[in-house]
Amino acid sequence: MIELIEYTGNLHIHSRYSDGAGTVPEIASAAHNLGLDFIIFNDHDHMTHDLHLGEEGYYGDVLVLMDVEIGKRYHHYLAYDLKEMVKSPNSGPQEVIDRVNEQGGIGFLAHPFEKGMPFYDKSIAYTWNDLSVTGFTGICIWNFSSRWKERVRSPFHALFFLLFKSRTLKGPSKKTLSFWDDLCRKKKVVAMGGSDAHGAGFKWGPLRLIPLKYDYTLNSVNVHILSEKRLPKDLAEAKTEIYGALKEGRLFIAHDNLAPAKGFRFHYVSDDGSSLIMGSEKPFQPGTLHMETPLKSEMRLLKNGAVIKKWRGQKASCRVKDKGVYRVEVYYYMFPFGWRAWIFSNPIYLR
Ligand SMILES: [Zn+2]
Ligand SMILES: [Zn+2]
Repeated sequence: MIELIEYTGNLHIHSRYSDGAGTVPEIASAAHNLGLDFIIFNDHDHMTHDLHLGEEGYYGDVLVLMDVEIGKRYHHYLAYDLKEMVKSPNSGPQEVIDRVNEQGGIGFLAHPFEKGMPFYDKSIAYTWNDLSVTGFTGICIWNFSSRWKERVRSPFHALFFLLFKSRTLKGPSKKTLSFWDDLCRKKKVVAMGGSDAHGAGFKWGPLRLIPLKYDYTLNSVNVHILSEKRLPKDLAEAKTEIYGALKEGRLFIAHDNLAPAKGFRFHYVSDDGSSLIMGSEKPFQPGTLHMETPLKSEMRLLKNGAVIKKWRGQKASCRVKDKGVYRVEVYYYMFPFGWRAWIFSNPIYLR
């Protein structure tokens, strides 16, 4: 197996260009303090007229890329690698996807089955009602802010889930995972995750606070990209590398505030000696799946969306005798909250 280089980043961040509270340099500095390698902004298309590509580049060690979240009331679409802004008004979600693809961009359905916050927003949820769309690269299966706010039913819940936000975060919803798994049986659909960080203030009566600051949220649900090369210092090359990995699914998703996930690996070695990493798709040949986690945890191997085997420890391998779409979920034990969702791999597709 080739030694892979891993870089960690946070996607789906809002800045002052839409409804976020921070400027791009301020947020880049928070990302630097957290040790992230890259961050990507997805400000709302209906609140800004420009992609602000001039803000892209390295801020110290952190690569900053500017992208967009297209959509207003429904069908939020996270679009990447755009040359020009794509706006949502008057166009249905399929038209948005097609326009992103025409530019050579890629895109992901954002929070398709979101439930909203029962206490404050009266459960306004920015869902996808039309899921007959085609041509998208993948799905954001795990959105920190969506999953956090769904649990806040009262001020008491808000306080409790703020105090224990890392230990009580729910993993991707069952609905999202089964929708994704069903699609993957037919074709490759990349999974990614994001923070949806806003860093915004909250007002309730006389109370004023910033419940979820960037310096917390930017290390919540992250993506870890695997590559054969270091992240280039040249902006254009670095963009090719990051967007290439997002397009291929050469990444895993992890809740790094629960426990640092750097070092997780999942790969397939067929009996002829060739190996495949996450996101790879090849005709089936018998072989062995290998997985490794940086801390003692529970690894669950899934085939076509169903758990076929579980292990506790840091390393496991499994012989594969039939074709299928294989992926791994990892759970980490956190006293007294039990097994918490931690790492979700992209699949290895053995057709
Ligand atoms: Zn959204
Ligand atoms: Zn958003």
